[in-house]
Formats: sequence, C-alpha cells, structure tokens
Amino acid sequence: MDLGIKGKTAIVCGGSRGLGRGSAEKLAEAGVDIILNARSQEPLEKAASEIARKYGVKVTPVACDVTTPEGRAKLLEAAPAPDILINNAGGPPPGMWYDWGEEEWQAAIRANMLSPIHLITAVLPGMIERRWGRIVNITSGSVKAPIPVLGLSGAARSGLTGFVAGTSRQVAQYGVTINNLLPGQHETARIESLMSSAARDKGITVEEARAQAYAANPAGRFGTTEEFGAMCAFLCSQYAGYIVGQNILLDGGAINSTL
Ligand code: NAD
Repeated sequence: MDLGIKGKTAIVCGGSRGLGRGSAEKLAEAGVDIILNARSQEPLEKAASEIARKYGVKVTPVACDVTTPEGRAKLLEAAPAPDILINNAGGPPPGMWYDWGEEEWQAAIRANMLSPIHLITAVLPGMIERRWGRIVNITSGSVKAPIPVLGLSGAARSGLTGFVAGTSRQVAQYGVTINNLLPGQHETARIESLMSSAARDKGITVEEARAQAYAANPAGRFGTTEEFGAMCAFLCSQYAGYIVGQNILLDGGAINSTL
C-alpha cells in the first residue's frame, strides 16, 4: 500500500532502536526522509546508515538528548519544517510511590510530558501554515490501565495525553493530526530490563518471567517493532487525516476492556 507520503520529512525521536527505530523504518519504507535522533552517536549513526541503505531515503542522524532545550533546538535546526514528528524517549524507571521525590517527578514530567509538548508546540505553526502535518506520540498502555510500578510513566504521560486531546481538535481543521500510540509489551531493550527487574522481584529467571508474561497476554507473545512501526506509519499517511486525538492501544489484547 502506498501511504502517499513519499518525499516528506519526519523527525523521529529515540529512533536508534526499539519502537522509535521500528517507526523510522516503516516511514523510510514509505519514502519519507528521516531526521533520526537518539543520545549516543555511534549506534545512532549505525542505525541511520542501515535505514538509508535499506530504503534509499535520506537519513540524517542528530545525536542529542531530546529532553533538554539544547537537544530539541539541535533537532529543529536540522529539520526546521518537518511534515511528521514522532515523539519518543526512554520511559521512567519502575518503582514504588514512596521512591519518588521531587527530582524523580521533575525528570519524568520533563522527559515524558513537557519535552513532547515543547516539540509539538515548535512544529505546529509551520504545519498549520503548510496545511499538512502528522504528529504521533509514543506513550504507553499505562495511560489507559494502571501499571502500579510504572506510576511515574503513567502520570507524566497522562499529562501529555490531556494536552493532545484538546490541541489535536484545535489543529485538525488545518490538515494536522496528533495521535498517541500506546504500546503494551514489545520485544525491545526496554522490555528486557523490565523482565530482568520482574525476575529479580519474583525470585525467578528472566526466561520464566518472560514465559509468564507471554501466558498472560491473549496473543501469547510480545509485539514486534515492525508491527508497531507499521501502525505509526499508517497514522502518518495521507489516509489518516480523519484520525484525530486518538489513543491507539497495541498490546495483544492485554488490557481487558470492551471499548
Ligand atoms: P528502547 O530503550 O528500546 O529505545 C529507546 C530509544 O530512545 C533508543 O533509541 C534511545 O537511544 C532513545 N532515547 C532514550 N532516551 C532518549 C532521550 N532522552 N533523547 C533522545 N533519545 C533517547 O525503548 P522502547 O522499548 O522502544 O520504548 C520506547 C518508549 O515506549 C519508551 O518511552 C517506553 O517507556 C515506552 N514503552 C515501551 C514498551 C515496550 O514494551 N517496549 C511498553 C510500553 C511503553
């Protein structure tokens, strides 16, 4: 299927691996030039050249921390007029409510709420002027159903979700859409570390923790970055202009609800 976005430019944050990488790959497959961001220069450059070689699009690596004003300025300098923005960064660490003080809260809110909001605010005027734009925020299933040990994540991302709910409805008339993708468990480095901490807590092996998590999911497995990226690319396609302010769960049916 031709997504109708060949030749457009996308900023993909946190894109050297995992869900961001999956999204960058599927956008590149659709013919989109990518400004690829992550913090560490070397793996980022490797990912950028692999994607460019595989799909024949321009991939510009921009190594910076997207949760800092300097990092975001560097990204926007590389792509002042992006057609597509994929917001993504690492998630806050798991813990208990009594572990989290002012510093931990500020870090989570900065990384998973304010940073995407600042980037959205920076690119919206240009998208509105050009009468076309697609913004996708990679958030978490913890926005829809609580994962108690991920309270920092659920709370900070809920703030972003609230912002998107209203703002997306203000900008849709200009051909600009903003939506959130809510991942459940996917095969990424992030899940490896969550599995290790679950294994430690329960006194079982990582393989046992993984088997338990698979068994608890209606799909009997974790999602792939390819599946995730394909949904992200579709939300950025010409055909997704009527999908506005939605929170799309990709979790194999793990959250048990009718709607
Ligand atoms: P990952 O650790 O595999 O990859 C994260 C990517 O973001 C890497 O490229 C990393 O270099 C980059 N990154 C991290 N912090 C950054 C920063 N401050 N600035 C720039 N780049 C940064 O993670 P993932 O599994 O792909 O998860 C992506 C997001 O989705 C995270 O916020 C995570 O909490 C959330 N999430 C993931 C899952 C899952 O199962 N993988 C489930 C729910 C939510």
